[in-house]
Amino acid sequence: MSESTLTQGCIFCEIVNHRAPAEIIYQDEQITAFWDINRQVPVHILVVPNLHYDSLDAVPSGLENLLGHMILVAKNIAKHFHIQEAYRIFINTGASAGQTIFHLHLHLVGGRKLGRPYE
Ligand code: 5GP
Ligand code: ZN
Repeated sequence: MSESTLTQGCIFCEIVNHRAPAEIIYQDEQITAFWDINRQVPVHILVVPNLHYDSLDAVPSGLENLLGHMILVAKNIAKHFHIQEAYRIFINTGASAGQTIFHLHLHLVGGRKLGRPYE
């Protein structure tokens, strides 16, 4: 099952539903943003839909509003942390692309010079 309110064993579902600890910095009825637990850059925040989708590939057509909202909230968070002049947002999709948590999430990283995002 790729969509539900709380997918069993999914850490990001637990964070969204306040059943696991996280430094949540923004939450509304559609999305939640919280600090990445393992940051290698000064700012590393994850923006996730409150509903569970395994990956971007699992998001059905018609959810442009949700996906656009994730990006615009990330933009506002970048401004909040004063990194609006240089930051990156990305979504790893699939294990070979580096996805390790299979609940859709957007990364917002910045606060220092960033290298190329791919190898
Ligand atoms: P991915 O590799 O799937 O694109 O990104 C998963 C991200 O989630 C990683 O950057 C990892 O550090 C972060 N992460 C994994 N487990 C947790 C957790 O329990 N809490 C938080 N806040 N971040 C996590
Ligand atoms: Zn989930």
